[in-house]
Amino acid sequence: MAANILNCSKLASINPINLGLIEKVPGFVELLGVHIFGHGYRRSKFLVMPQRGFKWMQYCVRAFHYANSEDFGYDGVIGPVHWGERYQECRGKHQSPIDINVLRVKQVALPDITFIGFDDSIDDVHVTNNGHTVLIEVENEPHPRVSGGPLDGDYIFSQMHFHWGDNDTFGSEDKINHRSFPMELHMVFFKEEYKTPNDAVRHSDGLAVLAFFYELDRHQHPAYDDITSALSNVTEPHTSVVMNHPFSFLNILPYDLNRYFTYRGSLTTPPCSEVVIWLDFEQPVRLAHDQIEVFRELRSATGKIRHNFRPIQPIGDRVVFYNIDNKYFSYNEVDDPNEDIPKRKKGHNNSYGLVCSVYTVLSLIIINVSLL
Ligand SMILES: [Zn+2]
Repeated sequence: MAANILNCSKLASINPINLGLIEKVPGFVELLGVHIFGHGYRRSKFLVMPQRGFKWMQYCVRAFHYANSEDFGYDGVIGPVHWGERYQECRGKHQSPIDINVLRVKQVALPDITFIGFDDSIDDVHVTNNGHTVLIEVENEPHPRVSGGPLDGDYIFSQMHFHWGDNDTFGSEDKINHRSFPMELHMVFFKEEYKTPNDAVRHSDGLAVLAFFYELDRHQHPAYDDITSALSNVTEPHTSVVMNHPFSFLNILPYDLNRYFTYRGSLTTPPCSEVVIWLDFEQPVRLAHDQIEVFRELRSATGKIRHNFRPIQPIGDRVVFYNIDNKYFSYNEVDDPNEDIPKRKKGHNNSYGLVCSVYTVLSLIIINVSLL
């Protein structure tokens, strides 16, 4: 039995579930822990049936909730309008998602974001239906990480997951100029300084979420085939599989990672902690309808997860920053075939660079003041 418990602790370490209490009941192991899901976390109980001869992953796939299985949802008495009754922070003034009005954003030229490990080929990727969304987690160390942009310090990858709607006309959480997208990807990172995701959510700069929107394309996106085929194996809640092929973060992202909106907000699921630095990338990922439709086949304890996005929250006194692509002029210079223009452009480019630098410094000061 001890070996079995150890095995499930391994699953816990990647989920992550911090096991608080383990006790035996006939034929089962009962686990009580904190389960990270979406951006949120909660205490959950699991019953696990030991299966001799199974490897740890297969063993833990048989875990299921049996007590208090759904304490929040997206409809009815457990829907978003009721979250605040149980989770006080969901009534906060700096909640997510928001509707970003591009006429009201403040343009900035932030330092480049450094993406580390995003083009690595990761071969131990776990896909889990947690009853609210599908989570993608990696076991390999070191985990991918990000720094730069609006971030102070390094942020380590925790998990990624998706939000979607009943049909292709809505489903994203944040909106741009009132526009909804059919789906949104959230890549969740926690600040390295805080050691674990659980500790990070106690700090106002504990998490960074890279958000990517999806839009429809007539063609399939080949990098998503492995994800969608894994989804068909986790349609039931609280099931998990290991992906068949190596996986690279960069392959599933849009080309342009320079233009993004950034603001301070919250987890979009209970307990709605206001600890998230959001980066919403402007260029959507293009997916075929069929590839999005597979997500809508996933099931929770109460039926198909037809939608799992929180409604828009008031922006309040917050400022949304828009990072412009400060390499734009360099690209133009390289591409220009006219020999006379580069000289003139070069001068323009340099002065632009200077203006940008001054502007960056000013902007950073403004950000630091605004975001404190
Ligand atoms: Zn999310």
